[in-house]
Amino acid sequence: MASPREFDIKYIKGIGPQKAKLLDDELGIKSLYDLVHHFPTHYVDRSKIYQIRSFADEMPYVQIKGRFVSFTIHGEGAKRRLTGLFTDGSATLEIVWFQRIKALQEAYHTATEYILFGKPKEFNGRWSMVHPEIDLPESVTAAQGLRGVYPLTEKLRNRGVTSRMMYQWINNALTTVRQFDETLPVEIIREHNLIGGDTALRTIHNPHNPDELYKARLRLKFEELFYLQLNIRRYALKRSAAVVGRRFPRIGMFFNNFYSSVLPFPLTGAQKRVLREIRADVGSGQQMNRLVQGDVGSGKTIVALMAMLIALDNGTQACLMAPTEILATQHYESISAMVAKTGVNVKLLTGSTRKKEREEIADGLADGSLHILIGTHAVIEDNVRFKDLGLAVIDEQHRFGVMQRARLWSKNRIPPHVLVMTATPIPRTLAMTLYGDLDVSVIDELPPGRRPVTTLLRYDDQRMQVYRSIGRQLALGRQVYIVYPLILENEKLDLKCLEEGYELIRETFPSYNVVYVHGKMKPKEKDHQMKLFAENKAQIMVATTVIEVGVNVPNASVMVIENAERFGLSQLHQLRGRVGRGTDQSFCVLMSKRKISADTRKRLELMTRTTDGFLIAEADLKTRGPGDIEGTMQSGMPMELHVANLATDGQIIQLARDTVDRLLSADPQLTAQGHGMLIPELTHLFARKTDMSRIS
Ligand code: ADP
Ligand code: MG
Repeated sequence: MASPREFDIKYIKGIGPQKAKLLDDELGIKSLYDLVHHFPTHYVDRSKIYQIRSFADEMPYVQIKGRFVSFTIHGEGAKRRLTGLFTDGSATLEIVWFQRIKALQEAYHTATEYILFGKPKEFNGRWSMVHPEIDLPESVTAAQGLRGVYPLTEKLRNRGVTSRMMYQWINNALTTVRQFDETLPVEIIREHNLIGGDTALRTIHNPHNPDELYKARLRLKFEELFYLQLNIRRYALKRSAAVVGRRFPRIGMFFNNFYSSVLPFPLTGAQKRVLREIRADVGSGQQMNRLVQGDVGSGKTIVALMAMLIALDNGTQACLMAPTEILATQHYESISAMVAKTGVNVKLLTGSTRKKEREEIADGLADGSLHILIGTHAVIEDNVRFKDLGLAVIDEQHRFGVMQRARLWSKNRIPPHVLVMTATPIPRTLAMTLYGDLDVSVIDELPPGRRPVTTLLRYDDQRMQVYRSIGRQLALGRQVYIVYPLILENEKLDLKCLEEGYELIRETFPSYNVVYVHGKMKPKEKDHQMKLFAENKAQIMVATTVIEVGVNVPNASVMVIENAERFGLSQLHQLRGRVGRGTDQSFCVLMSKRKISADTRKRLELMTRTTDGFLIAEADLKTRGPGDIEGTMQSGMPMELHVANLATDGQIIQLARDTVDRLLSADPQLTAQGHGMLIPELTHLFARKTDMSRIS
């Protein structure tokens, strides 16, 4: 028999070519291996039957037992739906179907007793269930233990694929394989008291009790996180072995002059600590790869500048890259102003830099007279050549992937030190996974005297009051952001909201200039509008979330976020960071519908209580999973996780990390006795993705 990874699912009993294609298109399941790694998201105790009368609050997936009282067809054409009134004697429940109406009507009858399985929803005090699974009681009571609920897509459901079918197919697949190969070294299995891979795979689909299930999941989670860490750590190890770092032993004139006669304020304790960490790195003789995390306004720019001055003191050049032209320009302006009197030569390079200026930059870079180059991605283009680049700083790194970082290294015979700065607070366990190849520093202290932004939650019907407060801020000479969500589901509708919002604002504040920025605009036009706002030629900016991370308009004191209920907390936090940059009291107003779930209200209220980005990121991770945080960083996971959860499995991540580090120090090549499965497994898991080990 072919190996599970080569075995095409179309040959599995019950699937066939059509369903196989559907499973591939919808879930990316191609092989038997993929299929048996499609795990249930949750489980239902098959022996437990719920009473409809006892439904309350948020209900999980449940089983109920009873009879249909009647069936009715509503609506026409695409709106057509079938409903069935179902009773279990305690109360009634409406069952709704939008698809395969005719077939269903023929299949089910009012006289028969059924067991229904699905997720009850409440609307206006009435309970309903959409597209439940329906069984005869005999077939259900025969089964034992916990029943897995498999994730499906809307399209699969519409084509009649049910969780129960998935279960059948997976079990058919499991019976065709005598034993799945063990994927972890036996000493690791023993050390952590894990169960074998084959047993775990079979058990996760057919657990008899919660204890068995726990052990199966633990083993599979560990395995996933182990390989994830092994991939990252092996890459980091290879790199530090292969890459010679340069040593910056000196602190010289550039740094000292700046420190004693320019630096306009004392550094915070956190800034000092991070600078010490950077100095230790660049003095060690190994290439620095450090991520500096610090909330908006924590003062990362100064730290970056001082690190660059160290590079200069050691006879090399430095560059700073920002994701957008506006940000690059802002950095250029503030940094060149700060170093104006210290003899440091700084220039700006972006997509719109003129040819003549480019030539001057090229000359200065080549002969070493240009010390610091600030810019956009233009800086890493191949034709930009430094005499000797010693340090590259990347600001707001989430738009800068591993690959781009790697391009920097080819800019020099000896690769430069790399300092990455991000304002997106990432919980430690997530950072360990996403940036496992970087050392992490945290600036966890704001400069003194900063007034925290006051955050308010307001509802749509209070909009006029909110506008009155905005009016007062405008009258004081302040500027205002108003942000609308742009979410893909219904782009047209969102754009309409944005346009209507813009019109309303213009009518409400006729004596102020209003600019309007969204993602569908040409970049040039967008930059132009943002510039008007930055120069206070416009006082109000109506925008989608395209308003760039890091834009600094200290005079802006109000951030209004419309439909705040649709944003993730980390995103709200980023947006809020646009204000509170000056010395005035700033405000962030979260506008929301009145009708929101208790959970959503809790999340929004958390925003009004805290400005601690890490706390917010943790909360976000717990409620919405890593997707959101990743989303804001636009950097995908190197592999898809089937069972581990970065939000809740912090301890297992740590365990996997420690295990991997010990393994790599004992067997860096992964060729020791009993480790034969490691490299093939890594290749299988990561081959389709970027091979990170090849970058250096
Ligand atoms: P971010 O971390 O968001 O990039 P910046 O580096 O832009 O923050 O700093 C925000 C503001 O705080 C700047 O105006 C900067 O000059 C100021 N700042 C930075 N460090 C300090 C400090 N130690 N004391 C007072 N102000 C500071
Ligand atoms: Mg910044």
